[in-house]
Amino acid sequence: MRIAIKGSAVELIKGDITAQETDAIVNAANTTLSGGGGVDGAIHKAGGPSIMEECKPLAPCPAGEARLTGGGQLKAKHVIHTVGPVYKDGRHNEPRLLEKSYRSSLELASKHRIRSLAFPSISTGAYRYPVEEAARIALSTVGGYLVQHPEIELVRFVLFDDKTYKIYQRTLEELSVGE
Ligand code: ADP
Repeated sequence: MRIAIKGSAVELIKGDITAQETDAIVNAANTTLSGGGGVDGAIHKAGGPSIMEECKPLAPCPAGEARLTGGGQLKAKHVIHTVGPVYKDGRHNEPRLLEKSYRSSLELASKHRIRSLAFPSISTGAYRYPVEEAARIALSTVGGYLVQHPEIELVRFVLFDDKTYKIYQRTLEELSVGE
């Protein structure tokens, strides 16, 4: 699925973030930037050890912030490491932190002339954020940013499983109709 926002595009695909050829891919990292499971493990495995070496002096990265490294052996030239919130009950600032995590990643992309980037579904794996709510925050934050920032040409969400893909698709349809 693909929608246009002014001159830019938001795309949803089912797939593996490590295979993307966008200028940058976004890592759902943790505050120590020391690797882990899920997206984080897959990116370090595919990208090789140089990414971890670059991460070391950039840690810690508090929830909501983002850090930039090279892409090592990945097709993407850059990796934007961001840390989403661990979901507790939705009353511990989780929505604001998740929004900040997307926004910080986009701001870092703009600053470094990154034109296309691929996001995973931040916080909805090990960090247990409910996918419906996370999708709404992810898509509305990206949509709002693209309206103001035409320098970003493409934001692609790379969803790993069918269920997450379908929820993002439904949410994007709802948000597009509501415009
Ligand atoms: P978090 O700790 O922020 O919750 P996770 O990596 O545990 O991050 O999970 C975030 C989402 O990314 C989940 O939907 C998970 O299924 C998905 N995911 C895991 N591996 C990959 C991958 N290689 N490419 C894209 N998405 C992935």
